[in-house]
Amino acid sequence: MKDNEAGSFYTYLPEGCRMCREGGKLVLFVTGECIHSCFYCPISEERKNKDVVYANERPVRSEKDIIEEIELMEAEGASITGGEPLLKPERVLEYLKLLKDYDLHVHLYTSLPDGKKIEKIAPYLDEIRFHPVNLEKPERFTSAIRLSKDLGLEAGFEIPALKFQPKIAELANELDCFLNLNELEFSQTNYENLVRHGYEVDDFYGAKGGREIAEKYASLTRKFHYCTARFKDSVQLRKRLLRMAYNHPEFYLITEDGTIMCGLIEGEREKIQKAIEFLNMVGEHYRLVENSKNESLSIETSIEAVKRWRNRFKDESLRLSIIERYPTYKRIIVEVEPL
Ligand code: SF4
Repeated sequence: MKDNEAGSFYTYLPEGCRMCREGGKLVLFVTGECIHSCFYCPISEERKNKDVVYANERPVRSEKDIIEEIELMEAEGASITGGEPLLKPERVLEYLKLLKDYDLHVHLYTSLPDGKKIEKIAPYLDEIRFHPVNLEKPERFTSAIRLSKDLGLEAGFEIPALKFQPKIAELANELDCFLNLNELEFSQTNYENLVRHGYEVDDFYGAKGGREIAEKYASLTRKFHYCTARFKDSVQLRKRLLRMAYNHPEFYLITEDGTIMCGLIEGEREKIQKAIEFLNMVGEHYRLVENSKNESLSIETSIEAVKRWRNRFKDESLRLSIIERYPTYKRIIVEVEPL
């Protein structure tokens, strides 16, 4: 048994998990629609039961959005998730072909043991993970797992640590497939349901008792991996952020958490246009940021540049600050220091 950081451990690590641990997996959410309504479903309101597509946090309107995200994080692989991806098999097939053009390792999550759909997508897929809802009737997946393996895919179960369900461990051994167990996570959408079912929050939004459940599975299962909420946040996400941060222009400062720091110039559109002309004239590097919601423009540049030209920009009634933000599509700002 190998102990990972942050409470995770494993005897066997599928390739998809190995890449995920390095922050190298793009998460492609192909639809929020699903035929189930698991009480523990953690999907956000923004996505739940909506036919929306996201590449990590970036809304996808065309393949171009997926490509931009692949390039931003220098993805080595992708996980296709939802909702239930196999409700949109044509879409999944189209994206799989695109991901294979980039030579990415791809794994897919599904709660449907649908052999016909699996046969169609298998030529473009590397790994498949089955989720028996509420951890019930895992034997329904026996043929789908056998078929997936015959088609050359790595296959296994992936379940939340709701409870110990020995049938799943026994079946994983019998089929010689892996069992991934995720710590049960509290989210805004499942919080009340989890409390109603008697779960309590531990650290990092994980439910209490996950480790004990994981140890029971581990004692029975040959190919086992337990992944905690803390590991996802402090290791996987941080590594993904760092990959993205290093793909930003050099004037951004990178913190050890994977966030980036820069100078921010805000103000009326015409004044921002004038500031751009000025930055071009003096040879400062910058990035223009368009906010499509309120149609505003702002400029990100080096911290030195906002300090150097502070008086000039202030005379133009522009607002200056030093910000620390995520290097992701949503540019979530974690700290602002007005100048
Ligand atoms: S199968 Fe997955 S996506 Fe569907 S309701 Fe259950 S947890 Fe949510």
